[in-house]
Amino acid sequence: MKILISNDDGFQAPGLVALHDALKDIAEVEVVAPEHNNSAKSNALTLAAPLYVHKAHNGFRYVTGTPADCVHIALKGLLDYRPDLVVSGINNGANMGDDTIYSGTVGAAMEAYLFGIPAIAFSQIEKGWAHVDAAAQVARRLVQQIEREKLIGGNPFLLNVNVPNLPFDELKPVKVCRLGRRHAAEKVITQDSPRGETMYWIAGAGGAKDSGEGTDFHATAAGHVALTPLQIDLTDHANLGDWNDTMARVARSAAGG
Ligand code: MN
Repeated sequence: MKILISNDDGFQAPGLVALHDALKDIAEVEVVAPEHNNSAKSNALTLAAPLYVHKAHNGFRYVTGTPADCVHIALKGLLDYRPDLVVSGINNGANMGDDTIYSGTVGAAMEAYLFGIPAIAFSQIEKGWAHVDAAAQVARRLVQQIEREKLIGGNPFLLNVNVPNLPFDELKPVKVCRLGRRHAAEKVITQDSPRGETMYWIAGAGGAKDSGEGTDFHATAAGHVALTPLQIDLTDHANLGDWNDTMARVARSAAGG
């Protein structure tokens, strides 16, 4: 099995190193990750500038771009093979609920999924890397289980996994969850710049609004590893029919009916 590893915190992040170390003896692994922190870059691609790829002393490749750039370049020119699986993370902080829209960790995994390659995004709930080796152990076991179930090479999948910051033997089993929802984000922070202009800082994400039973928030709060299968189709399927009716009505009244 060949695994491409990326992340959004940058090629020197402890979560990436831990993930690499946990997977390197169960698969052929390669790291292509951003040079700098690219958290909250989602699926952004760099189109207006060239990208450079360098190799660190430990063999990790790092790219002067976003997480999606890394996976895109790896799959469409850098690697001379197609990985069987792409694993992203382990992120410094939760990617639950609405976070998945903004997350560069999920973005890297999603880029692989868009190319038809199965992908998994891993995140720790709290920032600071406490028990990151336990999260890496979770990643290793999950990859092994997925391989044993012969899911690699079948239909591609996109999994979002969040791991509480606990020692490995205190983690509760994997729970399959839907995404919860967060409250609207906190107010932006303003400061005066040294040149007399106002600077605006995007503030933190909101707390959990929907953290009920069955959500990633609920499971991780109880010590479980939360696993959510994601899809990409943003179509509001439930309201397709209503919008069809509305637009038909608009067309009739425009025709004078
Ligand atoms: Mn990050």
